[in-house]
Amino acid sequence: MRKRVYIETYGCQMNEHDTERIFRLLEGSHYLETRNAQEADFILINTCSVREKPEHKVYSALGRFKCLKEKRGTVIGVAGCVAQQEGSRLLVKIPYLDMVIGTHAIPLLPQLLQEIEVSGKRVCEVGFDPGGNYLKTILPQVPLDQVRSYVTIMQGCDHFCSFCIVPYVRGREQSRPSREIIEEVERLVDMGVKEVCLLGQNVNGYGKGLKEEIHFSELLHRVDEIDGLDRIRFTTSHPRDLSEELIHAYSKLSKLCEHIHLPFQSGSDNILRAMHRGYTKESYLEKIDRLKKVCPSIAVTADAIVGFPGEEERDFEETLDLIQKVRFDDLFSFKYSPRKGTRAAQFTDKVEEKVKQGRLSVLQEIQREITLQKNQESECGVEEVLVEGRSKQGDQDVTGRTRSNKIVNFEGDLSLVGKLASVRITKAYPHSLRGEMLGSGFASSPQYFLCRRS
Ligand code: SAM
Ligand code: SF4
Repeated sequence: MRKRVYIETYGCQMNEHDTERIFRLLEGSHYLETRNAQEADFILINTCSVREKPEHKVYSALGRFKCLKEKRGTVIGVAGCVAQQEGSRLLVKIPYLDMVIGTHAIPLLPQLLQEIEVSGKRVCEVGFDPGGNYLKTILPQVPLDQVRSYVTIMQGCDHFCSFCIVPYVRGREQSRPSREIIEEVERLVDMGVKEVCLLGQNVNGYGKGLKEEIHFSELLHRVDEIDGLDRIRFTTSHPRDLSEELIHAYSKLSKLCEHIHLPFQSGSDNILRAMHRGYTKESYLEKIDRLKKVCPSIAVTADAIVGFPGEEERDFEETLDLIQKVRFDDLFSFKYSPRKGTRAAQFTDKVEEKVKQGRLSVLQEIQREITLQKNQESECGVEEVLVEGRSKQGDQDVTGRTRSNKIVNFEGDLSLVGKLASVRITKAYPHSLRGEMLGSGFASSPQYFLCRRS
């Protein structure tokens, strides 16, 4: 009988994609996914430790699953950044934990599970893999029921921003050979995928250390040529490394969606320096101007941190000023949380918790209004929507995304899934749009492309 695996994921897209890869890997080892932890033979908690909240969740999840270990002997594991960071200390802290598996060790998972089954031993595997084998393609074993898919193109980071744990838990930048990436995208397209999101902590660094000479914009050109693929997205790029070639890709590549996620973190030059970000507010704004000149319809989203050590009221006002100047389509904002082992964790000029919370609320209120206004700007316009499935809003509705990554719900049946529909936007809400379909089934046409970019 096939065993069942239940995975709980916390944190970033990188972690979500790792979970997807783990499922694919375990399907090959005769495990079936279950959404019910109670019936699982193996429970894996896959967490990120970039911020404090996801890290806390791992401990509370472990607490919840303790009784399953006692009642059913369920094998319990922790994967991801928290596992990488804590290593065997986690096995000491949590006596009923069977497995700790780091960010580079995913391909070893089936083997480790077998080891636990045979010997009953608890295992910990958190070594880094300098050869990059952990990044190799893991294709689905069963037909993919999805229109969009992530594809990892690189992992790790060489930037060492003073607040960030990523270089310590994901290692240095490692890129995958372009041929492997292209083959993976082609296979996914064969399985029905229409949109790929190329994933990396710093995609602009793509190509470093590879035998072939290739940059990220060149990779985009190659992916753009894949037949049957409708759309390309990528995340995340670092503002300092955003090249002119990449900016120009928005005017040249018809499949590249008009959206960029470009985290700025702070609008204050003093804070940006202390964060070790390598750009100023002015140079960030210049890059946004360049992007908007080349691609006027581009949607821009970003990440911001409030309450970084030393942030004074005037620094925070610079952040608000930047938000109002750019008018982001959406913003992911966080209170700074010190991460053990990073440089900023040693900084002494901490901002009080209630000041951080106050600033976060002010910033989010301003952004909420801007996001709604940006959504309202699309009212009455016609958008190309890639239909993904049934909408949560009702049985008569389907849901999909515009090229600018906004969610649109409209009346339609499931035969539209995987197709591009032409949808008139009738109403804007804070987190989605409502529309009515005008037509469907067209491929991304050059005319549509030209009119979007002008
Ligand atoms: N590589 C991306 C970049 O350079 O912008 C960011 C990737 S990071 C995994 C995702 C986001 O988490 C960051 O953009 C930042 O806003 C947030 N973040 C990272 N460390 C943080 C910390 N210590 N406290 C609060 N937010 C943090
Ligand atoms: Fe972290 Fe900075 Fe690297 Fe982004 S660029 S992953 S924030 S160290």
